[in-house]
Amino acid sequence: MHRCIGIIGGGQLGRMFIEEALRYSVRCVIADADPDCPAALIAHDHVIGSIAKEATLVELARRADLLTYEIEHIFLEPLIRLEQEGKVRLIPSARVLEVVQDKGKQKEFLRQHGLATADFVLADGKSDWKGIATAKRWERFVVKTRRHGYDGRGVAVVRSNELHLVEDAFDVPAVLEEYVECDKELSVIVGRSGSGEMIAYPVVEMQFDPRANLVTQLLCPAQIDAGTEQQAVALAVETVRAFGSPGLYAVELFLDRSGRVLVNEIAPRPHNSGHHTLEACYTSQYEQLLRILLGWPLGSTGLLCPAVMINLLGPEGFSGPYDFAGYDKALNMEGVYVHMYGKKESRPMRKLGHVTVLADSVEKALQKAAAVRPHCVIKPFSNE
Ligand code: ADP
Repeated sequence: MHRCIGIIGGGQLGRMFIEEALRYSVRCVIADADPDCPAALIAHDHVIGSIAKEATLVELARRADLLTYEIEHIFLEPLIRLEQEGKVRLIPSARVLEVVQDKGKQKEFLRQHGLATADFVLADGKSDWKGIATAKRWERFVVKTRRHGYDGRGVAVVRSNELHLVEDAFDVPAVLEEYVECDKELSVIVGRSGSGEMIAYPVVEMQFDPRANLVTQLLCPAQIDAGTEQQAVALAVETVRAFGSPGLYAVELFLDRSGRVLVNEIAPRPHNSGHHTLEACYTSQYEQLLRILLGWPLGSTGLLCPAVMINLLGPEGFSGPYDFAGYDKALNMEGVYVHMYGKKESRPMRKLGHVTVLADSVEKALQKAAAVRPHCVIKPFSNE
């Protein structure tokens, strides 16, 4: 039986995974260049080194019985080799990472498998964007760098008559994508066991800060009709099935104005849109991944209680040591759970923690979240 899990990356997702693993006394070793990364405090062991370096990954594989990851942007080639040589079990497989690391390959994968997604064209840096947009009759489209974008960085909405504003900034391989008039953005967390059994969590609705393109609030269950819910879950499950590898996946979806559900992108790991599962579901997304990695039975994804999750982001115009200002007020309310990730310094829009709010109904949870939100303030650290 595997008992030591290696996690590539030591951020908050790794940390929350380890919190759940500790309940079962499962050991976790992380690889992260930062000795003070969020997961370092509770990991049994830490390979301190860049996850972009082969030596770090080889050392992690040596210390662990199997590997998973909490971030996609990792050095893939050594993992593919170690997997082929039978020296490491990576879940989800390296092939999954190969597809999701590149937004172009991801879109082609969706198209090849007949999974609904916004129309797109792959472009090189200096492609004829105007020609493409004209041929497609796109007045507006979205350009995404194929590699290394995250949390909205490397994504821009472009109007065909304003191409000159962005063309230079995107002189790299990119995906040009039809602009989707979104009614809502949704997410479904899907788990797949080693034997191919699949389960899905209730659909969540993500609400964004349009400035930073970051999720600021998430609701579960999503406020959508039963037909849309079924469509979203079915599409997410089919998407994960197509990858053919065990693991836990987040499938981000668009619900467009005509009621169509489209896949936006896939993250083959625990996800921001699943934080609420820690308190609101029978089995959290992190425990579910643990069960999948260790070949244990999958856990119920049932919702115990409606939830709203608020991201705690570093404020604009401030970098440095910080405190959460809301303990007195937030912890005075029933059903409010604060998670701080232990990052040493705040930076604008950096994810520093989150707050989950539970209530009997989504409406009440939204009201309570509105009451908590003014207290969800990150302030500069002070000894006073
Ligand atoms: P990231 O990997 O940085 O999260 P995404 O591809 O998810 O990038 O895009 C970030 C956000 O940009 C999405 O959540 C959505 O709000 C918006 N967006 C992305 N693609 C489209 C699209 N085709 N149409 C409309 N909005 C989009």
